[in-house]
Amino acid sequence: MKTLIKNCNLISMDENREKIEYGVDILINEDKIEQIGKNLNTSNIKVIDATNKYVLPGLINTHSHIGMSIFRESVDGYQTQDWLTQKIWPIEDKLTGDDIYKSSLLSCIEMIKTGTTTVNDQYFFPEDIIKAVVESGIRAELTRVVMDIDNNLDGRFSELESLINNYNGKYSNVYINVGIHGLYTTSQIGVDKAISLAKKHNLNIHMHYLENSQEATDISKNYSGKKPFEIVRDNFENTNSIFAHCVKLSDEDYPIFSKYNIKVSHCPISNLKLGCGIANVPKMLENGITVSLGTDGQGSGSNLDMFETMKFTGLLQKGINENPILLPAYEILKMATINGAKALNKEDLIGSITIGKLADLIVLDLSNSIAQPINDVFADIVYNAKGTDVETTIVGGKVLMENRKLTSLDENTIIENCKNILSKYIK
Ligand SMILES: [Zn+2]
Repeated sequence: MKTLIKNCNLISMDENREKIEYGVDILINEDKIEQIGKNLNTSNIKVIDATNKYVLPGLINTHSHIGMSIFRESVDGYQTQDWLTQKIWPIEDKLTGDDIYKSSLLSCIEMIKTGTTTVNDQYFFPEDIIKAVVESGIRAELTRVVMDIDNNLDGRFSELESLINNYNGKYSNVYINVGIHGLYTTSQIGVDKAISLAKKHNLNIHMHYLENSQEATDISKNYSGKKPFEIVRDNFENTNSIFAHCVKLSDEDYPIFSKYNIKVSHCPISNLKLGCGIANVPKMLENGITVSLGTDGQGSGSNLDMFETMKFTGLLQKGINENPILLPAYEILKMATINGAKALNKEDLIGSITIGKLADLIVLDLSNSIAQPINDVFADIVYNAKGTDVETTIVGGKVLMENRKLTSLDENTIIENCKNILSKYIK
C-alpha cells in the first residue's frame, strides 16, 4: 500500500534537511517513508493533496496516563497529594478493565485529532489499554506501573514481566517499558527489581520524579534520609530512563541527569494546574539534558493537546526568566518531535520525516486560522496553531484521520460510553 502526500510545505525536523521545504511530495510505502522530493512520479496510488499545508512529524507525548480521560477537570481546589489520595486512588481501585479500555479509547481519539502519533503512558490494566491502542492505530509505549505502597510488589512485577513477554514485539505500534510510579511510592527493593528487569530486557524506564516540593521530603522518608539525587546517582546509571516533571530538581540533579543521559518529560500545564511550580528548562538545556514534552493525564493536564503544551513551554520560560530570547519556537518544536523520539530511545524510527523512518506524520492546515499573516511559521505553529488545525494524522503509514474524520474509531459511541463511568463510583 502506497500513499503520496502531494505538494506540501515540509517541516521534517531532520537536521540534515532545510528547516522548511516548499512544494514537496512524500511517498509512503507500507509503514515507512520511501521517498521525499519534488514532483514524484507515481500513479494509481492514494494521494493526499497538501497544497499550502504544512507536514510535520507526528507529535510525541512523553508522559501521560491515557486511561485517565474520565478524570478530566476533577482536580480543581486540591493539593496534589490530597487529589491523588482522596479523589483519584479510591476511584481507581474500583475501575474495571472495561472502564480503562473505554477511557483509553477516548484519549486515543483526542490524540489523533490533535496530531499526537506516539504516547508514553503509565497506568494499570495494561492489556485493556493495549486493546484500545491497537484498535486506534496510535503508537504507544505502555507499562504496568509498579509501586509498593500496597505491599503487592511481587504481584505487580509478575504482571509486568508477563506483559513484557506477551506483548513486546506482538504489535508494530505497541512497546512495553518499565514504569516506576515514583520514588516516594516505591522502595529500594522495588527500584532494584525494576531496574534489573529493564536491563534484562533492554527497556526504557518511565518514572515520575520531583513533581512538587512535598515529594522530596516523602522520598527521603522512604529512603532513610537519602536525598532524591543520591538515589538517582546510586541506581540509575546505565539505564534508558525518562523522568516526568522534574520541577524541583536540586543543583546536584542536573549533572547526574547529564552524565547518565536521563531524559526529561516536561509537563508544564499539569505542573501549573496542580500548583507544583515551573521546571527549570533552560538549566536542563544548559546541562545538555534531552527535554521532551508531555501532557500528563487529563485529570491534571486537562487535555492531550500538545500544541497547548508547546505554547505554555515557551511562554512560561520567557516570562519567569524575563528573557524573550529563551527557547526559540523551532527548539520547542524539536521538544515535541525529535526530542520525544530521543527520550523514548526511538530516534532511528520516529521523530522526524526522514527516508527509512516510520511514516508517522501530520498535515496541518493553517489557512482557516484567524492568526494571519504567517510571518514565522515555526512560531505560528507553537503559539497560534491548535490541535484542531491538524487535518490528517498518519501513523505507520495508516491514515487514522483524514480531513478531520477518523477512519478507525466511532467517535460518538466512544464519547457516549465514557460519560457515566465516573459517576458510577462517586457516592
Ligand atoms: Zn503523571
